[in-house]
Amino acid sequence: MIAPILRSLPELRALTRQWQAEGAVIGAVPTMGALHEGHLGLVRAARDECDRVIVTLFVNPRQFDRPEDLANYPRTEAADAELLGPFGIDALFVPDPDEIYPPDHATTVSVGGVSSLLEGLHRPGHFDGVATIVTMLLNMTRADRAYFGEKDWQQLMVVRRLVEDLKLPVTIVPCPSVRTAEGLALSSRNRRLSADALRRAPELPAALFAAAARIERGGDVPTALSDAAGRIGAAGFSSIEYLELRDATTLQAPRAGQPARLLVAAWLDGVRLIDNVAVILPPA
Ligand code: AMP
Repeated sequence: MIAPILRSLPELRALTRQWQAEGAVIGAVPTMGALHEGHLGLVRAARDECDRVIVTLFVNPRQFDRPEDLANYPRTEAADAELLGPFGIDALFVPDPDEIYPPDHATTVSVGGVSSLLEGLHRPGHFDGVATIVTMLLNMTRADRAYFGEKDWQQLMVVRRLVEDLKLPVTIVPCPSVRTAEGLALSSRNRRLSADALRRAPELPAALFAAAARIERGGDVPTALSDAAGRIGAAGFSSIEYLELRDATTLQAPRAGQPARLLVAAWLDGVRLIDNVAVILPPA
């Protein structure tokens, strides 16, 4: 069964108004398409927990900081609709960019603090684009629950902050990163890696997991990070934009005994990959 595709806001609103009147719990899974098992994990969780599930597919131009990344982003709508078939979702919402951003569109949602670090420093405007589209998608879908991947950890923290600060009536549900058997986090951008790069890419998570284990055992953090950077470089990554241990929620400096996150962004074969793993810091 192919998921029913909706393309206009009035169509979506008519449906969600009816679902709300019926008292249904509505789940939303925002995506940019080129779906893979990582996305499907979110859909599975939504299907399990909600009465109605809307998957959104929109390659949001406002969150791309490099025009070539937007131009090269994979677009596979027909295959995506087919992949979603077995899940029996209630709607695949594929909005028209002109309806999302009409010429007189003038509102930007900007989340302070957590947006300004790491990805925010390296991708100016990215999180403003994310926060603006997520706000619109949550409003448009009338979601009670919305599903986001831990793969994009900082994005998840930005969205949580946004929902809390704007008092949006939605529960944000985090879903674990889905990886290949070799450990590489699934990503739509992995499609742009050569076969050789795909063989080398799992060194990125391997270096992260090894560093996390050392730090959890009480190892010296700077040494663990520099060894991880060496391993990532040796695998053929051309540059590391950041490799940082941060507090899991604020993404500021980590605190002893608190959940932390080891986050990385690095380039391989002309493709920018990001990943992150959990670290429980030993007590001081
Ligand atoms: P994207 O289409 O890349 O914008 O991703 C849509 C949603 O899927 C986001 O919440 C991502 O964090 C999530 N996602 C992407 N890749 C993965 C993965 N490998 N594991 C879990 N969630 C993922």
